[in-house]
Amino acid sequence: MDKLFHFDSQQEVYTADACVISCFDARFDVAIRKFLKRRGIVTFDHIKIPGSAKSLAAPECPEDRDFVLRMIRTSIRLHQPRRVLILAHQDCGAYPGVAVDVVAGDVVRAAGVILASEPSLAVECFFADFDGIYRVV
Ligand SMILES: [Zn+2]
Repeated sequence: MDKLFHFDSQQEVYTADACVISCFDARFDVAIRKFLKRRGIVTFDHIKIPGSAKSLAAPECPEDRDFVLRMIRTSIRLHQPRRVLILAHQDCGAYPGVAVDVVAGDVVRAAGVILASEPSLAVECFFADFDGIYRVV
């Protein structure tokens, strides 16, 4: 291998403040990171999936749900997060023309899927809009 870039990364294994599930839509990256920091979540395992909650609540195929649940279990095994945050967002390509309430409903359903699999976790639901982040209740 040829070294192309030098950077000293942390070598110690960490304990994650949370496992975060969001879409890979980069428009919300800064808002999500600032929101998490505001909530005291600095070190986290970030599972980015197009459509985020959809892969758990209404997957195109059942294997998608299992794959995401396996990622969450891997996060728990390696980094012991005690909470999972699920974020959906406005104008998501996985939900073309779908009302916000429907997307929010999927976030709540996804939380139920996670809790059914990992009942010891605290699961929190959020929706990122272009003006900030909202709690889904
Ligand atoms: Zn999206």
